[in-house]
Amino acid sequence: MARRYWMHTLGCPKNQVDSDKLEGTLIADGLRPATSPDKADLVVVNTCAFIEAARQESIDTILALGDVRKDGAELVVTGCMAERYGDELAEALPEVDAVVGFGVPVTLGASRPVAATVTGRQVVPAFDLLELARPASAVPWAYVKVAEGCDRACGFCAIPSFRGPQRSRSQASILQEVDALNVREVVLVAQDLAAYGRDQGRGDRAIVPLVQAVAARVERVRLLYLYPSDLTDELVEAIIATGVAYFDLSLQHVSRPLLARMRRWGDGGRFLERISAIRAIEPEAAFRSNFIVGYPGETEADHDALLAFIDEAQLDWCGFFSYSSEEGTYAAGLDGAVAEGLVVERLSELSERQDAITAARRDALIGREVEVLVDVAGVGRTYREAPEIDGIVHLPDDLAPGTLVDVVVSAAEGPDLTAVRRR
Ligand code: SF4
Repeated sequence: MARRYWMHTLGCPKNQVDSDKLEGTLIADGLRPATSPDKADLVVVNTCAFIEAARQESIDTILALGDVRKDGAELVVTGCMAERYGDELAEALPEVDAVVGFGVPVTLGASRPVAATVTGRQVVPAFDLLELARPASAVPWAYVKVAEGCDRACGFCAIPSFRGPQRSRSQASILQEVDALNVREVVLVAQDLAAYGRDQGRGDRAIVPLVQAVAARVERVRLLYLYPSDLTDELVEAIIATGVAYFDLSLQHVSRPLLARMRRWGDGGRFLERISAIRAIEPEAAFRSNFIVGYPGETEADHDALLAFIDEAQLDWCGFFSYSSEEGTYAAGLDGAVAEGLVVERLSELSERQDAITAARRDALIGREVEVLVDVAGVGRTYREAPEIDGIVHLPDDLAPGTLVDVVVSAAEGPDLTAVRRR
């Protein structure tokens, strides 16, 4: 009787890819997925450690799964929190059977560091999550992680300290994975996607031929986490040429002095120029961005600048996150902390403003004919919606999952649309 496993994934799409690959190794080891955590012989929690709230969620999840697991079942913690806090975490959670960082299999008995190859700044573990094979996708889309780590030093971010410097995969290994996934939509992800290949001396262009090569294989290619200064004209044209004119710009703020304090490039004026230049080429382009509120030193003027930017940019989707002080980051040592109450106030003002913009942009689609990818029965997405983070399109239940269908938008409610068959 095959042993059963339960994989619980927290955090970002990159962590989801890691979980998929870990599941691939468990299946290769003869294990089979359990239908629920209390039926599993091995419970694995793939954690997130990006900010305090994510760490708390990881701890709560580990303890909750520890409580429901059946007698004798193993509880293994992996992912960013395991990598970042290893022994400390193991000490703090005696109920956990193993805390294993990156580069270590989650099957017990193998929980020892596996020899790594060190080339210059890069450490390539023998058990390399980045290059592991993964099973075909159960839905018609999939994230594909094209690189690990990051070479930037944004003031608020601890990721480079535990994910390491950027390490890009070869184009060949990425395309092999795309073929094995057997999907209609590929969502390319990395910490710093547009910098793909730079760490291997392939210059600033490597992302363009990659997008073109993937686009030659699947109907839809989507890119997440684009650092604004790397959004070259060539990359913009390559993205638009795929038919998925979707731009996920990681802006974080728009105030020049505050971005300098974040150790990031740009300002609102340059971002607006880029957005309108893209709209000049493709007026139907869709935009998403994320912003941090309450970064040390943020002034009322900075906040007003962001409000004005939101009004002018008219982005389809925005995420607003309160600043979280991260141990070991540049920002953790900065003065000018913003009072919690003020952060909450600014967050709600921004969200309210953006929700109205998003709803208006959705309303404007009513009556329009759009092509949707049917993800599951009754639910799909146009090119304007990334999976799991943007709105959805409610569809007639009888449209087959995995098909691309032309429908007509009949209604909009907040971020979501409803569509009917074309007459
Ligand atoms: S680009 Fe900046 S925010 Fe993103 S992972 Fe790298 S250091 Fe962190």
